[in-house]
Amino acid sequence: MCGIVGLVHPKSEELGLNKASYEVYRALLTLQHRGQDAAGILSYDEESSRFKGEKDLGLVSQVFDLEKLENLKGSMAIGHTRYATVGTDGKGDLQPIVTGYPFGVGMVHNGNLVNYHQLAKELAEKYNIAQLTNNDVEVLLNLWCHGIQEQFPFEKEIEFSHIKTSAMNILENAVGAYAIAGLLSGVGLFGLRDPKGIRPLILGKKVWDAEKDLVSYCLVSETNALNFLGFDYVRDIEPGEVIFIREDGKIFSEVLMKPEKAAPCMFEWVYFSAAESSFEGKSIYGVRLNLGRVLGKRARKLIENNVIHPDIVCPVPDTSRTSAIALSESLGLPYREGLIKNRYTQRSFILNTQDKREKAVELKLSPVRSEIEGKNILLVDDSIVRGTTSKKIIQLLKRYGAKEITLAITCPPLRHGCFYGIDFPKESELIANDKTPEEIAEHIGANRVIFLDEQDLKDAIGRTELCMACVNKKYPTSIEASEEFARQREINKEGAV
Ligand code: SF4
Repeated sequence: MCGIVGLVHPKSEELGLNKASYEVYRALLTLQHRGQDAAGILSYDEESSRFKGEKDLGLVSQVFDLEKLENLKGSMAIGHTRYATVGTDGKGDLQPIVTGYPFGVGMVHNGNLVNYHQLAKELAEKYNIAQLTNNDVEVLLNLWCHGIQEQFPFEKEIEFSHIKTSAMNILENAVGAYAIAGLLSGVGLFGLRDPKGIRPLILGKKVWDAEKDLVSYCLVSETNALNFLGFDYVRDIEPGEVIFIREDGKIFSEVLMKPEKAAPCMFEWVYFSAAESSFEGKSIYGVRLNLGRVLGKRARKLIENNVIHPDIVCPVPDTSRTSAIALSESLGLPYREGLIKNRYTQRSFILNTQDKREKAVELKLSPVRSEIEGKNILLVDDSIVRGTTSKKIIQLLKRYGAKEITLAITCPPLRHGCFYGIDFPKESELIANDKTPEEIAEHIGANRVIFLDEQDLKDAIGRTELCMACVNKKYPTSIEASEEFARQREINKEGAV
């Protein structure tokens, strides 16, 4: 899971629209929660006909300063916040990536290709294309470039038909989840979403001067970035759709591969996306309230049957706060913040090693003794992955005097690996894979664990077409190549800096 942005300004020095990189930087700040390993921006400078790029390890605010942004000239730019799920977390695998031949193209993507290693091998064997990174975005870039090269020479300049053919080369070969934004030198911006629509890609627009037809467009991972930039939401890019925004602001788009069933990731609503965003027209905040309400029905039965006896509802901050509010309202129990999060630490789920995740719990959560001591707590969290984080939190609450702890989870048990941009490819890493809810409760030291089921999740999100493969093993794409994918990921992790 990463955050991506692409932006095209109309040409207007007068309106100060010659620096797309400033807007991309601001958008990346709002997408920081999607990836905290690294950040990068690539712009196209029309004056010098050159790409200008800057990327490094660290948070967006650490990688960029005014001087660096000043150098990223041009009215078109793309940007990326990285959560390393393939490749290493070293500098060689950062995005955006760029090539000057056979066409000037820069690219960012969010997702994972299940058949990345197979495609890299095929590109080497068939066309002698050597990969320079361990990042699957390079394979996407190669597929795109190969598609464009086969159409040379163009009669005039590049047209939408050429872009469609290149996009088709990706759609027909890449298996997995990908939301792409690409910068074409001197031509414009394109976006592409995989045929199942697993990861989000959203089109936004800002009208600067309607009479002069001065309009900027952007592609972003989440709508919260649009709000921050003052852009209007236009629509979610469809699964299998390619969109081309020419540098003069003219837009072309077409769904090239329509899915029988779309499969957006349920975890975008449960955990990844910012509460103020919406995805596929469904407010993340609204869905999280619904998740709390359906949990409330399950908890009420247990209370009525004298199985659990909560005095307060308490969230594990931050993601589950919204659901905990709805749960407390539906049960008529006080909502209390028994754990305060240090806002300067990173999201622990997307840290890439177990050791870092466990340390993050100690560093980021500070208990409020007055609200915990002597209380039976209905603790709300978004998921249990490996169980070690939950165990640490429960130990912490008990150390501060909590009595009975019931852990209520706003999604079903995660039993299967994810190959689409989340860092849990191996079933054996998941606590729910071989344990019942009772065994999980015992393992983590809770009195009881309450999960939602698949139908609860569909009801709360308000749609039936979803990827829930980590819950039910129904992968929306082929996972034939997943064994090699998981094996290589382990090798990269061992070699990560
Ligand atoms: S397997 Fe799970 S985490 Fe991965 S894309 Fe599907 S729903 Fe999302």
